[in-house]
Amino acid sequence: MYLTAKGSFTSLRTTPGKDERHVASSNNRLQTPDSRLQTFFEEKQIVKAISVFPGKPDSVHLAELPMPSVNEITNGRGVVVKILRVGVDGTDKEINAAEYGAAPEGYDFLVLGHENFGRVESVGPNVTEVKPGDYVVATVRRPGTSIYDLIGTNDMTTDDVYFERGINLRHGYLTEYYVDDVEFIVKVPQGLKEVGVLLEPMTVVEKGIAQAYEIQRRLRVWRPRRAAVMGAGTIGLLATLALRLRGLEVVTFSRSKKPYLNSDLIEALGAVYESTADTAIIEGAQKHGPFDIIFEATGNSSVVFESLQSLGKNGVLVLSSVTGGDRKIEVPADRINLDFVLGNKVMVGTVNANREYFEMGVRDMAQAEAEYPGWLPRLLTHPVKGLENYEQLFETLTAAKGAIKVYCEVAQL
Ligand code: BGC
Ligand code: ZN
Repeated sequence: MYLTAKGSFTSLRTTPGKDERHVASSNNRLQTPDSRLQTFFEEKQIVKAISVFPGKPDSVHLAELPMPSVNEITNGRGVVVKILRVGVDGTDKEINAAEYGAAPEGYDFLVLGHENFGRVESVGPNVTEVKPGDYVVATVRRPGTSIYDLIGTNDMTTDDVYFERGINLRHGYLTEYYVDDVEFIVKVPQGLKEVGVLLEPMTVVEKGIAQAYEIQRRLRVWRPRRAAVMGAGTIGLLATLALRLRGLEVVTFSRSKKPYLNSDLIEALGAVYESTADTAIIEGAQKHGPFDIIFEATGNSSVVFESLQSLGKNGVLVLSSVTGGDRKIEVPADRINLDFVLGNKVMVGTVNANREYFEMGVRDMAQAEAEYPGWLPRLLTHPVKGLENYEQLFETLTAAKGAIKVYCEVAQL
């Protein structure tokens, strides 16, 4: 573990590039006299940030950045947000394990955290969409150069290099304040503030399901009735919720035997929980399927091939697991191929989400609170108070038994 000393960012390049707003706005501060006023000034101007040195395993530490300001966004559309809560997931774990992740240009560290939730502090002169005091969530990916980026769908980029806050080449949200263009900021209603930190993971589900429905327009009429969800972690639980809200019968498969919190949550939605310890997926599909839609979110690539064999005619399989390993398995390739061809089936991969899916997520979360009140808050199992407790945050993320959502309470709601 490392602690970056106060002012360590000053050792970085001081000529501001387009990604170096934080460095640029820090310059004057260092010339002020050493007085109580300066301490006050410094305390006001510096924010803490949980960071890693990308490429260096287990390097999570506390770094410091200058307080962001709306003026850093030049079109007057800047929004400064006070961070309230930030969730952590497998992506953060893998970045701290140095499996991927890159620092923004001009920095040797990357601020972690992409599952953000905060409150607007101040807005630029051309912002009409949000005002100070509003609760908001920011999207994760920022535009690149492909045609998909140019039309506002940067989640579909074909660029090899992509920019994701808290993941790749852009600082994340495990800090006290951030500034961004209002284009990337989505308002969350007051009534959802307790669960707002679940919006980013919800968007992964929203995009996957929306893409499936979009693809199925090929069928002229598609009335899905039976769905399966593979995995009962945060994404599996939220996928089960979203599919139940759309009126489907859902069977959720996961390894652990019931009863435990996750299986209780699945059953509270009126879905069926099947433990693969008792019932293999293919057997489960014979019992409950065939499935019109399957959402795969186990993080285990071999489940994809069992899912392929559990899909009904004209069905769609959505893949959302990011599998960084190198697993190899043997599969009945001819049979899988034949069933896919003769059954007109589809498989689609999905990553990230643009603002349209954040807006859908807000609507589904509001409907969830109306239809299954108190269900979403039960996912918030492991709060860790304060950015300074970053070691405990990562310890909880990697070791806690029974955790669904581990998150940092950066400030009070
Ligand atoms: C994030 C996505 C991101 C993906 C790949 C996930 O954990 O939720 O926003 O696109 O990782 O980096
Ligand atoms: Zn994530």
